[in-house]
Amino acid sequence: MALKRGIGVSQGVVIGDALVLETEETRVPRRTVPPEQISHELGLVAKGFTAAREDVAAEREKFAARAGSELADIFGFHEHWLADPRPQKEIAGMVEAKHYSAAYAISVFMRRYRRRFQEMGSPYLQERARDFVDIERRLLHHVGVETRHTLESLEEQVIIVAHDLTPSQVVALERTKHLLGFVTDVGGSTSHSAIIAAGLGIPAVVGLGDVASQVSSGDRLIVDGLHGVVVIDPSPDQLADYAVTVDHLREIRATLDELRDLPAETRDGVRIELLGNIEFPSEVADCLENGAEGIGLFRSEFLFLQGPTLPTEQEQYEAYRDAAESVGDRPLIIRTMDLGGDKCHVGGAWEPEANPFLGLRSIRYSLQNLSVFRPQLRAIVRASAHGDIRVMFPLISRIMELRQAKYVLSLVSEELEEEGYEFKSQIPVGAMVETPAAAICSRELAREVEFMSIGTNDLIQYTLAVDRTNERVAQLYTPADPSILRLIRGVITEGRRSKVSVSLCGEMAGDPLFTILLVGLGLSTLSMAASNIPRVKKIIRSITMADAERVKRRVLSFETEREVVNYLRDETRKVWGDI
Ligand code: PEP
Ligand code: MG
Repeated sequence: MALKRGIGVSQGVVIGDALVLETEETRVPRRTVPPEQISHELGLVAKGFTAAREDVAAEREKFAARAGSELADIFGFHEHWLADPRPQKEIAGMVEAKHYSAAYAISVFMRRYRRRFQEMGSPYLQERARDFVDIERRLLHHVGVETRHTLESLEEQVIIVAHDLTPSQVVALERTKHLLGFVTDVGGSTSHSAIIAAGLGIPAVVGLGDVASQVSSGDRLIVDGLHGVVVIDPSPDQLADYAVTVDHLREIRATLDELRDLPAETRDGVRIELLGNIEFPSEVADCLENGAEGIGLFRSEFLFLQGPTLPTEQEQYEAYRDAAESVGDRPLIIRTMDLGGDKCHVGGAWEPEANPFLGLRSIRYSLQNLSVFRPQLRAIVRASAHGDIRVMFPLISRIMELRQAKYVLSLVSEELEEEGYEFKSQIPVGAMVETPAAAICSRELAREVEFMSIGTNDLIQYTLAVDRTNERVAQLYTPADPSILRLIRGVITEGRRSKVSVSLCGEMAGDPLFTILLVGLGLSTLSMAASNIPRVKKIIRSITMADAERVKRRVLSFETEREVVNYLRDETRKVWGDI
């Protein structure tokens, strides 16, 4: 039994069996062979080592020409290890003594070997342990075991355990019906995997450091997304305790479900509009079921992360049209692709960047790649014939970007008109305020748009200079920092001055800890993952505007995020116990 602490990124608790990706994508069944087959299996082991060594040598040579090539060094290490006679001898010994199949002996030996490295305590050696996953894959490949395990092919309900999840794995997770929860070594509260977990409403814990190497597929796990805790191989007492928590959460959920059709309205009658955030059109239904009054953020870039080729204009049009039809006459805000950063499309020719979050990301990528941007805008404009579609441009950091983006939008609209398409003539245009520059210049920005939406996930990382995906600085990443709260307040003030509506669509909007404050700051629209809507609504329905304004005044007088969090925790508890 081991308890690990990370960052809980979505509500809920789940108990289930692990499927470890990367380290154990291959689950080699325990297999023994009859005595007459032993020499055949020994031959396979020998052949496996020779072939793997040859592969690695070829790859090392391929990279050797590049000065300082780290890959050549890594392959050199693999080659050296495979040339050492001892591992092969030990594996052959298992085949002879225990009659294991070659594949099973390799898998048992490699797992033990990895564990030894991991237990040495040095981060360097722990990292090296991951090399043995690669070596194992190679050896298994040469003894006839294919190591690819795709998430789409999951057949039983599992908790995914991984070092990290790539956007395409995240996309596959979205499609599987067998996912109970997931846990990862890396990541922060607003990295892409965390956002998807919140969208799906499944328990997840990220930033656990070394969970993928501590857990084996088939291990029993408790994932507590509320407290950021993972229990590996829990004791009967822990299982019993958590079963009570699971029941308790189910009861809370049932009470929240009763609010579904009631408005998000304060006790003194002020309406707050609650919208949903989605990554795929299929999530609209979930948002509406949870009481969303529309979609405040469609992260359209996920359409670009699904396969090796870019979606065509027609494919995008169909996705936006489907979303619009499911949303009905409610608003659907489509954010143009926010590619780059931690979301690069597989088929794209992405140059490696030293600081991808400060690089060719989002609107910058769009404006430099009009052959990708224009078809997206055409698709959105065409889809506007099917609903209340609005366009939002992400990561604006200067007015000129916004003007250029609007110009491209007007060009494609003219083009479509000439081509005889029917669409809405005045599509509302908005800007995300997610850089300090945009927040500081929100007065000027407001003159250019019909609405602004505050993206706190990025606003926090750029204001506090804290990578939102890096678990090592996760304790510094907080919406409660006074600098963030002042920026938010400033944007709301400017929006009001210019009569431009302001909403907030970062994860902060869905965290009940901040609900009273955000209402007090004057936000009347909040957009969040579907699963967060009921809790936020519950808080709104329990307060008055006078409560919210009092809380806001007090919070804005604090100097540290600790004071803010402690105070908000107390105030939220007063309203809704210890949620
Ligand atoms: C944000 O930055 O707050 C936001 C909503 O956008 P994303 O999380 O997709 O970067
Ligand atoms: Mg953002």
